[in-house]
Amino acid sequence: MIAFGPVPSRRLGRSLGINNIPPKICTYACTYCQVGRTLKMQVERQAFYEPEEILKAVQDKVQNARDLGETIDYLTFVPDGEPTLDINLGLEVEWLKPLGIKIAVITNASLTWREDVREDLMKADWVSLKVDSAQQEVWRRSNRPHGNLQLASILDGMLEFAQVYPGELVTETMLVNGINDGAGSVSEVASFLALLRPARAYLAIPTRPPAEEWVRPPDEAAVNRAYQILSQQLDQVEYLIGYEGNAFAFTGNVEQDLLSITAVHPMREDAVGAFLARAGADSPVVRRLMAQGQLVATEYEGQRFYVRKLHQPPAEE
Ligand code: SF4
Repeated sequence: MIAFGPVPSRRLGRSLGINNIPPKICTYACTYCQVGRTLKMQVERQAFYEPEEILKAVQDKVQNARDLGETIDYLTFVPDGEPTLDINLGLEVEWLKPLGIKIAVITNASLTWREDVREDLMKADWVSLKVDSAQQEVWRRSNRPHGNLQLASILDGMLEFAQVYPGELVTETMLVNGINDGAGSVSEVASFLALLRPARAYLAIPTRPPAEEWVRPPDEAAVNRAYQILSQQLDQVEYLIGYEGNAFAFTGNVEQDLLSITAVHPMREDAVGAFLARAGADSPVVRRLMAQGQLVATEYEGQRFYVRKLHQPPAEE
């Protein structure tokens, strides 16, 4: 299906997905890919569908949603592969603009060294770039890139893009246990992101069955450590850990609000105390959430933090 949704997305509100790449053609074969193993690896751009076909599929879905009174916040290129492999991506973005809905592209950034790819991405309103590692060895193990790709050129391409991109640029770093969740690897990512200056840096963990069965998410302590390391260099760091938390919508329900906030970022013990005091609640709430297995306490550099309990992805069927 070329167009699907709209589906709720924490980053994009109600997002109508555009699948402009057949499954699964990609420049990477990430260990954690939730679309499954890469069936065809390639780095050459090509046309996969007629742009008219994509436009029609999206127009129909938008009309359908509008008839049902559903809102759409973004049209999002989030295919079963790498969206920038589509040589018509820029044209499709241009053709979709008259629908009056903002356009997002979620890319692994592996082709940003190409000027034509950067030009296509410039046309979107919101772009997410994947930065799992800034170290050659770790990048190879995590993303398992096509042999013709060079990490240094990709990082340079991202920086070149970020300097001129007028839209909202975010990054996504998927942490995998034992691959890129160590302090050294995360520090290198943080230094790179400090140069890139995204509006927001997201930290993700695998929450759905990964391409490789052995892939595990990091534990809460490692996710918290990554958050703290990134936060030392960046203002806006958020979790994407599979919960639809919204730290900015307070319901008045202390338990729910604590879980929503910790789904987006860890909370230091004193911040939790201040939050409970403001809400007129007390610490049994925290103990109860910990006893229920929903909240976990972890230490980082002598400070105690509360984080959402992470769930292991189910094994692949
Ligand atoms: S870049 Fe995305 S689609 Fe490609 S293998 Fe990695 S996770 Fe899967």
